[in-house]
Parts: sequence; C-alpha cells; structure tokens
Amino acid sequence: MTKHIFVTGGVVSSLGKGLTSASIGLLLESRGLVVRMQKLDPYLNVDPGTMSPYQHGEVYVLDDGSETDLDLGHYERFTSSPLTRDSNYTTGQIYLSVINKERRGEFLGQTVQVIPHITNEIKSAICTFDGPGVDVVITEIGGTVGDIESLPFLEAIRQLSLDLGRENCLYIHLTLVPYLKAAGELKTKPTQHSVGQLRQIGVQPDILICRTERSLTRDERAKIALFCNVPLEAVIEEKDKEFSVYEVPISLMENGLDDLIVRKLGLKAGEPKLDHWRALLDRLRNPKHEVSIAVVGKYAEHRDAYKSIYEALHHGGLAHSASVRIQRVHSEAVQREGAEQLLAGVDGVLVPGGFGERGIEGKIQAIHYARTRRIPFFGICLGMQCAVTEFARHVCGLAQANSTEFDSQTPYPVICLLDEQKKITDKGGTMRRGAYPAVLTPNTRTAAAYGALEISERHRHRFEFNNEYRQLLTAHGLQIVGVSPDGSLVEIIELPDHPWFVGVQFHPEFKSQPIRPHPLFAAFIGAALAYRNTSPGPPAAPKSLPCP
Ligand code: GLN
Repeated sequence: MTKHIFVTGGVVSSLGKGLTSASIGLLLESRGLVVRMQKLDPYLNVDPGTMSPYQHGEVYVLDDGSETDLDLGHYERFTSSPLTRDSNYTTGQIYLSVINKERRGEFLGQTVQVIPHITNEIKSAICTFDGPGVDVVITEIGGTVGDIESLPFLEAIRQLSLDLGRENCLYIHLTLVPYLKAAGELKTKPTQHSVGQLRQIGVQPDILICRTERSLTRDERAKIALFCNVPLEAVIEEKDKEFSVYEVPISLMENGLDDLIVRKLGLKAGEPKLDHWRALLDRLRNPKHEVSIAVVGKYAEHRDAYKSIYEALHHGGLAHSASVRIQRVHSEAVQREGAEQLLAGVDGVLVPGGFGERGIEGKIQAIHYARTRRIPFFGICLGMQCAVTEFARHVCGLAQANSTEFDSQTPYPVICLLDEQKKITDKGGTMRRGAYPAVLTPNTRTAAAYGALEISERHRHRFEFNNEYRQLLTAHGLQIVGVSPDGSLVEIIELPDHPWFVGVQFHPEFKSQPIRPHPLFAAFIGAALAYRNTSPGPPAAPKSLPCP
C-alpha cells in the first residue's frame, strides 16, 4: 500500500518547504523506495502560468507542458520522481474541476460544498499516484498554517488519515525557531503556536522540522517536544546552510529524519546510499576554478525569477569543478548605462527567457557586447529571439528588425507568432509548452555538447524564428543547428565564428540536475572558463554596426 507524507509549514513563509520535501524525497529514494512528489498550492489561479515572477518566481515547466510552481524544480533536481500535471494542484484547479462537474450535473441535485465536495476533489488529487509500484507520495501543502485559504487542504489531509489509516499517513510540520539577539535566545513559542493551530484543526504532526540559524540544545528540543506533543526524537533541527541548498538532505539524514520516517511508516527500506550526493558536495566545497557569468534579465533583483537558470549554471560549474559567480544584471540598467559599464570583466553572458517589452533593448545591447567582444553567450528562449534580432540589426543591416511581440509593425519581423498561436486569445495554458524533439546538425558546438543528434527539450513560448529570414541570416553567418524533426521550426542557432554563441528556443534549465548537469550549461561554463584563461579575442567583428 502507498504511504503518504504531508509537509506543512508554519510561522512564516519561505522556510524552504519545497527544499525540505525534495530532500525527504531524495533520502527515501536513496534507501531504495519509489517516491512521487506533489505540491498543493492554495491560490485561486488555475496554474502559475499567468502569474508575475515578482509574486511567484519562475514558472516551472514539465515534460507534459504543465506550468507549475518552482518547488517542482527542487523536486526534479533532487529526486528522480517523474512529475506530471498531477504533481501540482492549485485551489483554482480544484474548484474549476468541481464547478465543471456541478455544471455537468454530476452531483445530482446535491448542495455543492467545501466539505465534502472540495475536500473529496483534493483527496482524489492526492491519491492519483497511489498504486502497487509507488511506496511513498510526498505532498507539500503550500502556504502557512493559519492562512484561511489553505484550510480545505489541511482538512483534506486530516480526513485522509481516516480513509487510509493513521499508520499510513505521516504529518511533517516545518517551522521556524528564531534567534532573538536582544534576548540571546532561540524562541520556541512561534512553533508552539503554529503546532497549536494545526492541532486545532485536527492534525497532530508526527515530526517537526525546525528551521533555525543556531543549533538547538537538547533542552530546547525537549521543550518543543513537550509543548507540541511529539517525542523528542521527532524534533529535528534544520540549521541554515551557509554554503549550498544541496547540503540539506545529508544534514537531515544526520539528524535522523529518514530513519524516523521509515520507522513511523513501517517502510521496508535499505540503508541510505548517498555516495553520489556526498561526492557532489565535495566538488561544490572544493572548486578548482571560478567563472563569472552575467545573467541579464528584467527580474534581476528577484531571487526566484530565474531560479532554474541560476541552479543550472551552478550545475554547469560542477561539471568543470568551477564555482560560478552569478552577476544578476538588470536589463533596463544595461539600457540606461550601457553594456560596457555593467558587463566589463564577465566571462559569459546569459540572457534568459521572458515576456514583454520592458528591458528588451538592454538585452539586445548585452548580446551585442558579448558577440562583438567574443564573450561566450547563451540565449534562452527570449534570449535566443533577442540574439536573432541583434544579428539581423547589426550584421544583416536590418536596423528596424524586431520580434512582433515588441513591434507589431516592424518591417523586418525576424521573430513572429507561431501559426498555431495566431487565433488564440486566452492567456492561460495556451503557449507551445512541454517537451518537443529536435534534430541537431553534426559538427556543431551544440551537437558536441549533447553528444547526440536527437534531443528532447521543454518549451514555453508563443513566438519563433521567422523562416522567411532563414536564408538572409544564414548567408550572413548565423547557423541554424537545431530544428524540429520536420525542419519547420528553428530551435537552436549558433555563430560558428564566435568562440561560443548559442541560442535555444527551449528551456534547458528545466532538465539540469546537480548530479547530471545539462550539457549546454556545462559547455557554456566550459567556454567561459576558456575565455577567462585566454586573453579576449579581437574587440569587434568587422561586419558589425554600432549598437545604439
Ligand atoms: N516571449 C517570448 C515568446 O513568447 C519568449 C518566451 C520565453 O522566453 N519563455 O515566444
């Protein structure tokens, strides 16, 4: 029978529930168990696809095209649990489904209510992965205990222990034990209150994971245990990691978490095999090189807006035993102050995906700088589209070239709407999304990086390279090195006479793991290292026009 672990959060948000859940997943997998990961989000949006990165960080895309919460990125980086649209439910999705059923008359005249109809829908979402091949489903409940909007989720997980048996459900509550400088003490009261609130709605946590900046003494743990009604061994410390989030699983294991879970759920598990993870930490702690990479985007100030990009860059560094210093550069600042000013000294420039006109000219200036100074460049989705625009403007002489996303009247629409997108007006869930195959041109940097000529990568965009400009751009030296299998869509471009200039229409960052760095990120960091170790090449390619 499939067992369930529910991870809730208390006291404050941003405690790292996603990372903790992912770490639990990794620990259980390392003991030979088959795990599925899932996140329930209490907001009313049907998915985060239409939410601003300022509010919600990046939108994480799965193979099946689902647009999901960024915590699913942690799940995929830490575990091998396959994720699907059932891995992320929002309140909006749950209500939409119940309301659709009501409209179809499926409730046969009943009054449709939060309990039982919404809670039943939540329970069936939680149980979608149950089956003989799955040992444990880990469900993370978004939000903080005490929020009005997460109540139906908490009620549903309470009911599940009646439906499935208390012994088959484990409640883990992640809480904060703050250190008060003035008092010189760690404070357990917020944790007591948060657990008190959970118990009021009928959920007695089995395990408390306490986020703290200082180690808890045995007495402090005993106090939490007593007031929160859990055994002492179930008060697990999760101290802030100064170095890397990838340290979390090992430290939770050292504090006995996986043993406790295995025992409490009566799981048949082996000893943890974490040599690969320890080796990874070793490489992270002892880098032999350093590179500096500028990520130029309009959400530079937001830590989570390009989360997977930042992670994938670090993974690329791991492939070369290099630590990657990421400089988050605001594209509007580049527009105002110039690329020279903000990018001097970097070993590589990456322009990530994005939507909307703000900061576009700054991204194009940054690309111009990287291209003409022969600095390794990696353009992702919008980054590739901007690279094509930059090339058309300054190498092909089409000064007004643009994407129709930003200038619908441009005389040179080098990037234009996908045909299938032209009639679509709804914004939610309507882009070209999810995994698509591409075929690569042999003897290119991209093919060398992948070591394969057929790949599959995740997409999320409405616009694409305009095939009417293929001939002109390639005649001027841009190489199309990856296309859709029927050849109709340009997926990857390169500049062969540049040390490393690659633009991809997809999002490789979503498939990078610390133990399996994405080949393009690894190759990009390799090129950045090479750039750092040699004197920069000639300042400007002769065919270039000045960048405005
Ligand atoms: N805005 C562009 C498009 O829709 C790029 C999208 C992206 O970078 N994800 O095609």
